[in-house]
Amino acid sequence: MHMKPDFAKGNGLLSVILQDDSTGQVLMNGFMNEAAYEKTLEDKVVWFYSRSKERLWKKGETSGHIQVVKSMALDCDSDALLIHVDPKGPTCHLGTQSCFGDAYFNLQTLDRIVDQKVDNPQEGSYTSYLTEEGIDKILKKCGEEMTEVVIAAKNNDHQELVNETSDLFYHMLVLLKHQGVSLKEVEDNLETRHGQNLSYKVRGDIEEW
Ligand code: AMP
Ligand code: ZN
Ligand code: ZN
Ligand code: ZN
Repeated sequence: MHMKPDFAKGNGLLSVILQDDSTGQVLMNGFMNEAAYEKTLEDKVVWFYSRSKERLWKKGETSGHIQVVKSMALDCDSDALLIHVDPKGPTCHLGTQSCFGDAYFNLQTLDRIVDQKVDNPQEGSYTSYLTEEGIDKILKKCGEEMTEVVIAAKNNDHQELVNETSDLFYHMLVLLKHQGVSLKEVEDNLETRHGQNLSYKVRGDIEEW
């Protein structure tokens, strides 16, 4: 970063907003003192100052849901910090991706959830089940869903087409994850083909690490 945050203005505390680097979802607001800021720069994962516990707090210290720093930007007068992160689990301690609720949703958000379910298999999770069954099961489902998309379109059934396309996209994300391909790679590939920026990837003057 070129500028130092202005800690004095907030009586030693800097307001910090975490934003998901791939989905653009606003995840959380927290506070850093200078020590938390220095630790964040050093570790490349987010540290806060907990006002209730009155101590440094590494986000994810108990939950494991650490926030890997991708880029940082100070606001106009250096008293607020925006951090683009790769969250290693739901950011809110209440279990949602975001502390502001999960009303925000796009394919990247779903991809993030698929990632989490594949990496932390859970009883009763369909994604975990698919992953456990393996590639043949996933491919079979992708084929079936594609067929259902075709039938819905042939039948001019608008809502069925929406439903079956949703099924197909979800299963495609599971397949890509299984094969080690990220949605980002597909997006970047599409972007190269068309030479256009992805509309939600507005980065301004945010500095890349
Ligand atoms: P964690 O840092 O995720 O290991 O969570 C440890 C504790 O920090 C939780 O039990 C909460 O008290 C608090 N905490 C974690 N994440 C949040 C959050 N997004 N908003 C408010 N408090 C949080
Ligand atoms: Zn400001
Ligand atoms: Zn929260
Ligand atoms: Zn279907």
